[in-house]
Amino acid sequence: MSRIHGSDTSLEIEVRKYLYHRGYRYRKNQKTLPGKPDIVLKKYRTVIFINGCFWHHHNNCKYAYIPKTNIDFWNNKFSKNIANDKKHARQLRKMGYHVLTIWECRLKKDFNKEMKRVTKLLKSYIK
Ligand SMILES: [Zn+2]
Repeated sequence: MSRIHGSDTSLEIEVRKYLYHRGYRYRKNQKTLPGKPDIVLKKYRTVIFINGCFWHHHNNCKYAYIPKTNIDFWNNKFSKNIANDKKHARQLRKMGYHVLTIWECRLKKDFNKEMKRVTKLLKSYIK
């Protein structure tokens, strides 16, 4: 859901690199899981979604604007995406996964800070 044509965005690649260099091992785009999470960390029972603010309509975010033409189409599209994201997160939690969402704008603003937040959470999951 976070990518438009199925290819990795550069932010996704950066996030994976960051985790890999710190010893985290993961699988990517696991198609058998709801929503095809961008990153799956089995050891931590955690899935990570790296969400583009526009497509996933990040609440109160400047990147989550609504285009000025075809407003109904976009509103419809965004509410579908939001509903799907919620549904997938619910399904994953039921399966026993922690679900982490990383927003594009947070990575753009302060990549290291956002990634520290993520790794801190990961560590807290295997206590
Ligand atoms: Zn955002």
